[in-house]
Amino acid sequence: MASIELINLTKKFGDLTAVNDLNLVIPDKEFVALLGPSGCGKTTTMNMIAGIEMPSEGSILFGGEDMRTIPANKRDVGFVFQNYAIFTHMTVRKNLEFGLKVRGVEKSEIKRRVQNMADLMRLNDRLDWRTSKLSVNELQKVAIGRSAVTEPEIFLLDEPLSNLDAAFRAFMRTELKHLQHEFQQTMVYVTHDQIEAMSLADRIAVLDMGLLQQYGTPNEVYNKPHNTFVANFMGSPSMNLLPCRLTNGGGDHALDFGDAGTSMIEDGELMRRCKLARNADVVFGMRPEDIDIQPREVGRPGIDMEVSFVEPIGPRTVVHLSAGSHSIKVAKDKQYPIELGAKVKAEFPKGRCHIFDAESGNAIGLE
Ligand code: ATP
Repeated sequence: MASIELINLTKKFGDLTAVNDLNLVIPDKEFVALLGPSGCGKTTTMNMIAGIEMPSEGSILFGGEDMRTIPANKRDVGFVFQNYAIFTHMTVRKNLEFGLKVRGVEKSEIKRRVQNMADLMRLNDRLDWRTSKLSVNELQKVAIGRSAVTEPEIFLLDEPLSNLDAAFRAFMRTELKHLQHEFQQTMVYVTHDQIEAMSLADRIAVLDMGLLQQYGTPNEVYNKPHNTFVANFMGSPSMNLLPCRLTNGGGDHALDFGDAGTSMIEDGELMRRCKLARNADVVFGMRPEDIDIQPREVGRPGIDMEVSFVEPIGPRTVVHLSAGSHSIKVAKDKQYPIELGAKVKAEFPKGRCHIFDAESGNAIGLE
């Protein structure tokens, strides 16, 4: 059993709290991503799990066992860093064999595992090359293979793909999923790239300034963000977040966008959430891909806006709309027919709108 439990985990460096009272349960054999911007405490959390850093407060359990007194080399943890740590004077084969020899694994078993890893990582034709001759992409494959071949119960990866080129990163994402499928390890993966986290992880822990913002499946984190930080961090382009005021227009709730006008709320779910708002000042959120662009004559709720910029980005067109001091992005299919300067209505997507408290940034009435 290699579940990982972080209980009230805190790490302080002098006055700085790098990780603040973190509680997280990583189930056995799950792939969990620690996601957040630079400096949010991802690596520090990872280092504490590995035993490289000691917590200031709180505890770490592996399969229910407290790791406080267990040193790093006794934790059965594999670790891959952003900057591949491999022996450059050795061949690929010797690098892959190294951890197994240190552990006293039998010769025939070493041969089998190294061959299996070379097949998995497609390193067969490089096995007898010196690693100094390898490309950056291949070096990172060796670094991952070298750690994975020892089959640790827990595999920690700290931004392992961030130095690699985009095409190879996409390839390696698939390879990492294969690895986890093959070895059934508990994987913890540090990244600041939300796409990487979404595509790889069973669950994502979103961190900001040492604090856990949300922990859930990619679907939960993307579709039900707990606050404006998560809403903004997940997705590209990110969620449109418009400050506005809840008003009562003729007895019904409406959203007042100031110089961009007012819109009635007809969406039952949104109405329910608005009624729970404690303050009139809220932030209204819509994912770019959820917004409909309609002619202004259409009587449904929305904001009258003007097309200010059209951005073709290959598979999609991002249409920028503005009204008064507000602007939003709308994601449409490629070659979406729209004219710069067109006067349109941005229609609120039914059942797909988000509403947050303006002061705390927390989602209102999330179910
Ligand atoms: P990055 O993606 O940039 O590595 P991160 O989310 O992994 O960021 P950490 O490396 O965990 O963040 O750092 C969290 C905070 O703790 C940062 O402000 C960092 O400067 C600080 N920090 C990390 N290690 C130390 C240390 N050994 N001494 C002092 N401060 C540290």
